[in-house]
Amino acid sequence: MASKLEFARLPAADGVNGWWETLSPPSAAHSMRGERQFDFVVVGGGITGLCAARRLGELAPQASIAIVEADRIGRSTAGRNSGFFVDLPHDISSESYSRSVDADKADIQMQRHGIGYVRSIVRAEGIACDWRDDGKYHASVNKRGKEALEHFASGLRRIDERFEWLDEAAIAKVTGTSFYHGAIFTPGCSTVQPAALMRGLASTMPSNVEVFELSPVSRLEHTAAGEVLSFANGKITAGKVILCTNAYAATFGDHPNGLLPVYTFASLTRVMTPDEVKALGGINSWALIPADPMGTTVRRLGTDRICIRNHFAFRPGLEVSESDLRKAKHLHQRSFDRRFPMLKDVELEYTWGGALCLSANSGTLFGRRDDGLYQAIGCNGLGLSRGSASGKVIAEYALGMNNEMVQQLLKQPTPRPLPMRPIADVAVTAAIWVKELSAGAEL
Ligand SMILES: Cc1cc2nc3c(=O)[nH]c(=O)nc-3n(C[C@H](O)[C@H](O)[C@H](O)COP(=O)(O)OP(=O)(O)OC[C@H]3O[C@@H](n4cnc5c(N)ncnc54)[C@H](O)[C@@H]3O)c2cc1C
Repeated sequence: MASKLEFARLPAADGVNGWWETLSPPSAAHSMRGERQFDFVVVGGGITGLCAARRLGELAPQASIAIVEADRIGRSTAGRNSGFFVDLPHDISSESYSRSVDADKADIQMQRHGIGYVRSIVRAEGIACDWRDDGKYHASVNKRGKEALEHFASGLRRIDERFEWLDEAAIAKVTGTSFYHGAIFTPGCSTVQPAALMRGLASTMPSNVEVFELSPVSRLEHTAAGEVLSFANGKITAGKVILCTNAYAATFGDHPNGLLPVYTFASLTRVMTPDEVKALGGINSWALIPADPMGTTVRRLGTDRICIRNHFAFRPGLEVSESDLRKAKHLHQRSFDRRFPMLKDVELEYTWGGALCLSANSGTLFGRRDDGLYQAIGCNGLGLSRGSASGKVIAEYALGMNNEMVQQLLKQPTPRPLPMRPIADVAVTAAIWVKELSAGAEL
């Protein structure tokens, strides 16, 4: 029996996920126990895994399929994000989100493929997740931000993508705050309540897909009988396994794979009172990203709460500390106060962190990894639209299909390996620090 993989790092409770807490209580988790056999097992119940398992179920109705998630589906990273399904270029390591024309076009094609897939499921299944096709605003707060927006706009012109400029007064009419100096509106972004979407995707799986939660896989071995996955209370033997564990797949030491677990953090306010809503003004739901990728993302929700996200931290141990969370909350409060001086009594009710999976060259691990083993790993900060596409397409590939999207995703670069730790720790932490410092007012 050849040992293939030990799952050394498992999700931890990194703060309190406000999206999850504000949903109704979940039904009891169905956990993995005993000895089971499946044709396919998908490891990881984030957006990538959920799309992979569903697509397998759709295309292979006779096959038996399992999806196994260490936490509750919707409580872990895919249910912790700001809920932007971004269709346009969004390279957060660049100054203005764009890359080259060819790379931008390929990203758009992939991201729209993913968004279209999930939107069709949400509509067909009637998943209540506040799905909105209302676009997003990129807003700047100073001259440097305006220059970044102009760079982004010229990138969009080069690839014939539609957008609209808003001056200071126009963006203030949307958001209610005069904090922003200008913005670009792009219409193709959709937004969701991410925990509700993940839960809804899990509860509407095709009938040949069995969903296991609170079921961390500890080891995966290749045997003559198939792929054997070990759990605390049992094991599964599978024909094929698809790994969709994103940052939890990062390895360091003798076999570094170039994946970087970088945390980012969000807070959700309490529900505003009618007087506070009136004092804020603006429209009742909007979604805004900063001109500088290291700045602050803000959403005003139809539920009269505000969600705010900023700050990055390299955490190779895949866990954040109480002091990380305190620092994030402090930064969120400062950013909130600067934007919304009229809401000085509105507290941040929940604060949490979640692990992105970045790499130095925006590379991903996509395709066949070994006999019977496939992977779709490496969200590069944009897992909702990219993960939807890569989850759907890895399922098609694992079933032997070969189409344009399969070819495109197989062509993606793999992550560039980094220096060994602790050099990597110092280099990545310093790079984040410098970028956050230069984002300045955008925070
Ligand atoms: C605060 C914040 C804001 C963000 N905003 C956005 C945004 O607006 N738009 C966007 O596109 N992205 C955003 N992101 C990033 C987005 O959340 C990720 O890109 C996305 O979750 C990646 O999806 P995934 O399914 O590939 O991986 P994950 O969501 O990380 O899912 C992997 C899953 O694997 C499970 N797992 C790991 N190990 C095991 C094991 N051994 N056994 C079983 N299960 C295991 C984990 O519990 C996890 O649920 C944000 C992230 C954060 C933290």
